[in-house]
Amino acid sequence: MKGEQRKKIVKTIKIDVDKCNGCRACELICSAFHAAPQYSSNNPRRARIRVVHDPLRDIYVPVYAGEYAAAECAGRDKYTIDGKEYDECSFCRASCPSRDVFKEPDSGLPLKCDMCESEPPLSEPMCVQWCLADALIYEEREEEVEEEEAQEEIEIGLEAMASKHGWQKLLDTAARMSRKG
Ligand code: SF4
Ligand code: SF4
Repeated sequence: MKGEQRKKIVKTIKIDVDKCNGCRACELICSAFHAAPQYSSNNPRRARIRVVHDPLRDIYVPVYAGEYAAAECAGRDKYTIDGKEYDECSFCRASCPSRDVFKEPDSGLPLKCDMCESEPPLSEPMCVQWCLADALIYEEREEEVEEEEAQEEIEIGLEAMASKHGWQKLLDTAARMSRKG
């Protein structure tokens, strides 16, 4: 059965790799904004964005933390940019078992960019505000979505995380997050 249609605001951040100068302010402010209490620390390992760097060619590529993946992927992509071949996992957005990127250093729980959801809402996500090079450009658009599908996505995501980390760890983390501020 079809669920009800509702409007959803889709938030995107466009990345202009040519403008990124590798200052990593985006990583710092993201980790500080999400620290508990807020702004109490600024460890880039807790950031939901990371800047992939090739020092020899002066290339910087910001990558946002995406969905949690319970298993390693079966197929991987190789990228060649300006003649340099990058590691298969370099530009992947997933928090997955293959690597330490996009994981909370203390708990190992997956980190995902939440577009700096907060109350009251920000005019723009923090990393966009702090990117003085204008390499990150924030955009919003409206889309129609099925109510049921949106709910289903959340449930599937939670179950996958719970089977890996256990409900207690998820609940402890949620309690810690709710105390931030
Ligand atoms: S703040 Fe902007 S210029 Fe600096 S590393 Fe991040 S994306 Fe690149
Ligand atoms: S949008 Fe917010 S949560 Fe996402 S990477 Fe930027 S600062 Fe972090």
